Amino acid sequence: MALSILQVGEAILRQPTRALTVPEIHSSTIQQLIAAMQQTMYEAPGVGLAAPQIGEPLQLLVMEDRAELLQKLPSQQLIERERFPFPFQVIINPTLVVEQSQQLNFFEGCLSVDGFIGLVPRFHAVKVTGLNEKAEPIEIQAYGWQARILQHEIDHLQGKLCIDQMLPKSMMSVANYRKYWLNQPISCVCEALGIT
Ligand code: ZN
Repeated sequence: MALSILQVGEAILRQPTRALTVPEIHSSTIQQLIAAMQQTMYEAPGVGLAAPQIGEPLQLLVMEDRAELLQKLPSQQLIERERFPFPFQVIINPTLVVEQSQQLNFFEGCLSVDGFIGLVPRFHAVKVTGLNEKAEPIEIQAYGWQARILQHEIDHLQGKLCIDQMLPKSMMSVANYRKYWLNQPISCVCEALGIT
């Protein structure tokens, strides 16, 4: 069953989360929560969902980039964003290390900031360690769009939202993004909107 996604303005989205213990991860409560988060992410649809977004202050996130979502996007956009499909993944108690400090600006939205989008600088490559849904240690080395998703979702676990780092003049409605900027190079967007 899909859960409702909290919108910006809910205090829980701004509060720190707590780590899960191994027995908790194995519990039916957490296993059911993971299944519900997966369903919620699919139905939204989104590429990631963090526990605070469905009202749980826990260090737990799910993510997946599905081929069917990518088919709807211009291929040039997929190439420049380094966006490829990757399978469903559960990450618990994550730690993130920046592997490449170069930052890239691309449009990024959030299921908790419904209807808006903007340019957010993110590191090109990161390494994340943590536990999976079986409480086994995992290590993910990611670049491009997957690295962006990881940074976005792990920020949620620290009470941060993408609007905190968004270039302020780039914030816009999703409708206007699709109307004017979807196929424009980022450099043209910045010039037109006065972003230096
Ligand atoms: Zn988000």
